[in-house]
Amino acid sequence: MSKNIKVWCLSAVAAMMVFALLFTATAGNRQVSAGQDNGYHGKPAKYVFYFIGDGMGMPQINATEIFKGVQSSNDPMYSEKLNFAAFPYLGMQTTQAADTFITDSAAAGTALASGYKTNSAFLNVDPTKRVKYQSMAELAKAKGMKVGIVSSVSLDHATPAAFYAHQPHRNNFYEIALELTDSGFDYFGGGGLLAPTGKKKDQPDALAIAAQKGYKVVNSHNEILNLGQQDGKVIAIQPGLAGEQAMQYEVDRTSQLSLADFTRKGIELLDNPNGFFMMVEGGKIDWASHANDAVTTIRDVAAMEDAVAEALKFYAKHPDETLIVVTGDHETGGMTIGFAGTEYKTAFGKMAQQKISFEDFDKKIKTYRETVGAHGANLSDWLPVLAADYGLVDLTAYDRERLSAALNASMLDKKQRSKDEHSYLLYGTYEPFSVTVTHILNQKAGIGWTTYAHTGVAIPVFARGVGGEAFQGYYDNTDVAKKMINIMGLTQ
Ligand SMILES: [Zn+2]
Repeated sequence: MSKNIKVWCLSAVAAMMVFALLFTATAGNRQVSAGQDNGYHGKPAKYVFYFIGDGMGMPQINATEIFKGVQSSNDPMYSEKLNFAAFPYLGMQTTQAADTFITDSAAAGTALASGYKTNSAFLNVDPTKRVKYQSMAELAKAKGMKVGIVSSVSLDHATPAAFYAHQPHRNNFYEIALELTDSGFDYFGGGGLLAPTGKKKDQPDALAIAAQKGYKVVNSHNEILNLGQQDGKVIAIQPGLAGEQAMQYEVDRTSQLSLADFTRKGIELLDNPNGFFMMVEGGKIDWASHANDAVTTIRDVAAMEDAVAEALKFYAKHPDETLIVVTGDHETGGMTIGFAGTEYKTAFGKMAQQKISFEDFDKKIKTYRETVGAHGANLSDWLPVLAADYGLVDLTAYDRERLSAALNASMLDKKQRSKDEHSYLLYGTYEPFSVTVTHILNQKAGIGWTTYAHTGVAIPVFARGVGGEAFQGYYDNTDVAKKMINIMGLTQ
């Protein structure tokens, strides 16, 4: 062999090796994690709380502060700062997905859990669907920490799933549930599962599989309250769930467990010498904002604040070892404080009497529709109900016009309703009468909404405790995860 051919052969072998390496680097099932040095070189945080308000932007937080102020004081200018808004460190994160400026919860969840950008609807897989991302929860579990995932919506929903699942679509609920059973995480609490036996209901029950894999599955009030560390790995599902396997909206909740109850139970189950990581999602802040229902949104933000209070009690006992981060995945609804009809005025007191979520109010409309039929509706039947459920009494002629038109639209069977642009802008895909009631009430209070979907604005990040100072500044949502991975000492 001549020297030239030898060199060529060696180069070819080298090229093939490089190709093989590159190929493995992009081929299916490769797992990567986003550990990165973010400048924190102190002792790793031993106990980490990650609160994610789904759809919780600054307007949702500010509105809750003003609403709480109105409820607790006679001073119309008093607003009560939320416990996490008083954290010493504040930053802002941009929220866009890889493919759109307005993200969905799966891409945002992937960024916040694992530190990577992907397309909307993708869960912990790259935009080519070939690489899987490891979440901070998986890294924490691998390090020997205990891990808990709590959500007020179903446990297989995009945000909680972003901490344990890797799927090309967020709606692969059965596959997500199977990944939940394989996660080995120590505590799942809150809502249920959307498709425990698969889309066609013909697969083995995911909760039975979880039990075979060593999970104690409980779904009664007392069983959940009585859980202790001796029970090992647990899945605790709120009994009497509302729609879509989610917990009730806080405004509708009576004696059921709260998000704070599930958080407190998590601390009890997870506390151990190796430390823990717990993600708590206020998932229905988003749903209420999609529906443009301000009070239901606000009450769910307050429920998350109560859950943060549980973490703060733990923090008070372990201030040198605990990190608490509170953020949102995106804003929902284009909520703002300020409406064209009220200009510089606000009157949040007008919302103080709302006792019901749009979800429960929709049920009343359904019963009425079934009673009076498509053409039998009369707004006067509803005036006492609007006064009792919403405190809505000062109706103008224009309000009545809007309410009557919406009531008539709500009396039609869903398939017969107009799907034109005008109807969509007025009602979205919601019950026309219900969404018109909250629009009118919210507008009288000085709250405006621009969309029934998400928006693309930046979101605040509040931090307290070990490494909290790293969250100051203006960065990307992927950086929130990178910072946390760094502070937990999970950098690879
Ligand atoms: Zn979301």
